[in-house]
Amino acid sequence: MHNNSFLELDSTAYRSNMQFLRNHFKNRPVISSVVKGNAYGHSIEEFVQIALAENVDHFSVFDSQEARRVKSVAAGKATVMIMGWLDEGKDLKWSIENKVEFFVFEKHRLTAAAAVAKKLKMKATVHIEVETGMNRTGFNKTEIKWVQDFLRKNKDHIEFKGLCTHFAGAESIANYFRIKNQIAAFDEIYRQFCAVDLKPLQRHAACSAAAMMYPETQYDMVRIGIMQYGFWSSAEVLVDFYNRKRKNIDPLKRVISWKSQVMSVKKVKRGEFVGYGTSFMADENMKIATVPVGYAHGYSRNLSNVGRVLINGERCVVIGSINMNMMVVEVTYLPEVKRGDEVVLIGDQADNKLTVASFSDYSNMLNYELLTRISADIPRIIK
Ligand SMILES: *Cc1c(COP(=O)(O)O)cnc(C)c1O
Repeated sequence: MHNNSFLELDSTAYRSNMQFLRNHFKNRPVISSVVKGNAYGHSIEEFVQIALAENVDHFSVFDSQEARRVKSVAAGKATVMIMGWLDEGKDLKWSIENKVEFFVFEKHRLTAAAAVAKKLKMKATVHIEVETGMNRTGFNKTEIKWVQDFLRKNKDHIEFKGLCTHFAGAESIANYFRIKNQIAAFDEIYRQFCAVDLKPLQRHAACSAAAMMYPETQYDMVRIGIMQYGFWSSAEVLVDFYNRKRKNIDPLKRVISWKSQVMSVKKVKRGEFVGYGTSFMADENMKIATVPVGYAHGYSRNLSNVGRVLINGERCVVIGSINMNMMVVEVTYLPEVKRGDEVVLIGDQADNKLTVASFSDYSNMLNYELLTRISADIPRIIK
């Protein structure tokens, strides 16, 4: 574990986000907490503890490695659903033995699941993912009949729990027609399953953005990632929410804060370059501080010359390039700054606030990518 910086997880913020989401989804769908990508950088083990304390009992992950990590904290208290990778040897066997549910989007995985379940004398609980227009994973229209026949013949080995799909960019209104077509396609496939007496227990499709922008996609379960952590999928989703509510109060609270400290302070003469190369030249005599966080810790190099941090309650600009393990910031106007002062990379200090969204504006990178890049070796502290 590094001790050059740490992450604080605010369980009160999480409680408030969950209260908001539960009240907002009027038909009370199951809320599956999406914790892939190391819980969007928050750390699976710590984050799942916080979620369990708020009675969250459903988690979605990408693969069985993440499922194991959720189980290590939530064993017996929650349902775990794998949405992506599963090798058909050990992972499949482990998942079925441990009652971990999983997406099936290919014939091969479905037949393998039935075979393994049969051998174990257990049932595999599956969510059939169907293609509706994203063109990533999902059974095609032409395969639906085969899937239905297979499910019917293998009832003893396969429990058909869910029918699901995923939208291709619900966070951007530019994709409006594509998403509407996906919804129509999904509804049609659902009818085809019901028509042959294969009504799934759970119909689910929505990520955060879809659940907000297209409320009809909430169905029986919503798969909520980014919003539970206190971020909006995009500015458009937030604006859409404001328009619907006719008020501009952001109900979400950021769970994560990232803090470090000033490692050293020094002076630079006008005309000197700072750091590697010549990307930053001091245009006046200035004072600079180094912070022991760099791209190896997940602070993106794209934030070179544009990132902001908070020191002594003020915003300071990153100057020069982000190095592997450190960065340099300008502190000319902070008379009191000294070694050991708190540096906030994401979070609040005095009356100032740095959100991940505010760095995404500078770097054109999504919240998602910035969060998941934060190194797993940095300690997480639950507050
Ligand atoms: C990541 C993911 C989600 C959650 O998306 P958010 O935008 O973070 O809410 C939902 N469903 C699937 C299949 C995903 O991969």
